[in-house]
Amino acid sequence: MVLPIIKYGHPVLRKKGERIENITPEIKKLIADMFETMEENHGVGLAAQQVGVAKQLTVIDVRGVTDRPSTLEFNGQLADLAENMPLVLINPEVTPVGEPVSGGEGCLSFPEVYAEITRPGAVDVQALNERGQPMAFRCTGLLARAVQHETDHLNGILFIDRMDKKVKAELQPDLDELQAATKEELKKAK
Ligand code: ZN
Repeated sequence: MVLPIIKYGHPVLRKKGERIENITPEIKKLIADMFETMEENHGVGLAAQQVGVAKQLTVIDVRGVTDRPSTLEFNGQLADLAENMPLVLINPEVTPVGEPVSGGEGCLSFPEVYAEITRPGAVDVQALNERGQPMAFRCTGLLARAVQHETDHLNGILFIDRMDKKVKAELQPDLDELQAATKEELKKAK
C-alpha cells in the first residue's frame, strides 16, 4: 500500500525513532508499504518518520540514479550494488570514515527543495536487515549520502539542519510556506 508522505511542519519528523527489537508482522507490512511508497515517489530512500512512524527503520534504493555512482563493501570486498538493493536498515549505527564531500540532496518531505549538503564521503554501517539479522557494510558515493540522510531522519534530524547557513536563509521563505501549509492541513484533519 502506498502511504501518504509526511511533509515538513509535522512534528513526527522531529521525533527520534524507537529501536525495533522484533520483526513483527506489523513491521514486515510497514517495510513492504515503505518500499511501495518509495518506488511510487521515485525516492532514493525513505525513513519511517516520513510515513508517520517514529521507529528506527529506513529503506534505501539507489538503483534508479545512474549518474551518481556508489560503492558497497562487505568485509572489505566490493559487492554488486544492484544485487543488494533495496536495502532495509533497522536500528542503524553510522560511523563516518571518509573526508567530507558536497553533493546535491532533496527530500520527499520537502517537495522541490534541493541544496548542496556536505557530509562524509564514506561511512561504515551496522544495522539489522529485514529478517532481523545483523549486517555491516562500508559504502561511498550516493549510497553513503542516502544512508546518512535517512539515518538522520531516524534521529529527528532533517537535511535543512545540515545546510550551509546562507543557503538555508535563501530557502527560508519556501520552508516557512511549506511548514505553514502542513500545520494548516493538520488543523483541518483534527
Ligand atoms: Zn529525507
